Amino acid sequence: MMVCAGKKHVGMSKTVKNAYRGRLAPSPTGLLHIGHARTFWIAAQRAAERQGTLILRNEDLDPQRSRPEFAKAMIEDLRWLGIHWSEGPDCGGPYAPYSQSERRAHYLAAWRRLRDSGVIYPCTCSRKDLAQSASAPNDNDDEPIYPGRCRGRADAAEFADPKGVNWRYRVPNGAEVTFNDLSLGPRHYTAGRGFGDFLVWRRDDVPAYQLAVVVDDDAMRITEVVRGADLLKSTARQLLLIRALGYPTPDYFHCELVRDAGGARLAKRHDALSIRQLRERGMTMEEVLEMAGLRSPR
Ligand code: GLU
Repeated sequence: MMVCAGKKHVGMSKTVKNAYRGRLAPSPTGLLHIGHARTFWIAAQRAAERQGTLILRNEDLDPQRSRPEFAKAMIEDLRWLGIHWSEGPDCGGPYAPYSQSERRAHYLAAWRRLRDSGVIYPCTCSRKDLAQSASAPNDNDDEPIYPGRCRGRADAAEFADPKGVNWRYRVPNGAEVTFNDLSLGPRHYTAGRGFGDFLVWRRDDVPAYQLAVVVDDDAMRITEVVRGADLLKSTARQLLLIRALGYPTPDYFHCELVRDAGGARLAKRHDALSIRQLRERGMTMEEVLEMAGLRSPR
């Protein structure tokens, strides 16, 4: 049965305790691939096993890269995989996700709180400045360590809105960030070494991924975040933001990435392995799940 909780739940005080709430959070910047199938299937299974609620959140904040046709395709592909979610913003049926592009006011409120507490700063470094001095991004992470030129700025309070400059969270250098991943075990990161001052708002006036996810996971009362292991380091960043904003910390379950025979990660842009194409080639849902390293549901 579908439980349609409605918009009023998002951003409301937390009245329900100990009820599992998970989310599927795809970005509509391409077709879902076999790695998504794996992560989302596991997320759906964990929610179902706990009789929990599963939310679909369309992470469509980036106007350059997000496309409505990919959002539509992701809904169709999830349904084809037999993945169901149970809560949407407007009781618009089981297909209506929350869309981040409609939730700017929530991110802005969090930005203001961070600005007022002095933990973020405006950064005017150009891409070129960063490219010249930054260390190369390591492992799967695509945000290089910020070299720190604007770190000492103390003029955040002069900005009425975030537009026009990048905004970075000033990480407590040397602080240990640890969490116990429910799939991969204990994880340890050191702020300033594993990752640096990260973006919370982009100069083109788009809230950055780290901020939007933390705000939404709190507003949607997510109790467990299930996502790909490529986001492990982002979890460390997000834990700092969660602490700065005074939110409760969810549990984390990071799924191992699907790799090809040579051990290389199957990237999102690898169209040959999009769920769509596999479907068109005549593969069944069970075969796709098996390819994703999951046991057939039957
Ligand atoms: N939207 C992100 C992605 O597609 C995932 C966000 C998350 O699970 O925290 O990579």
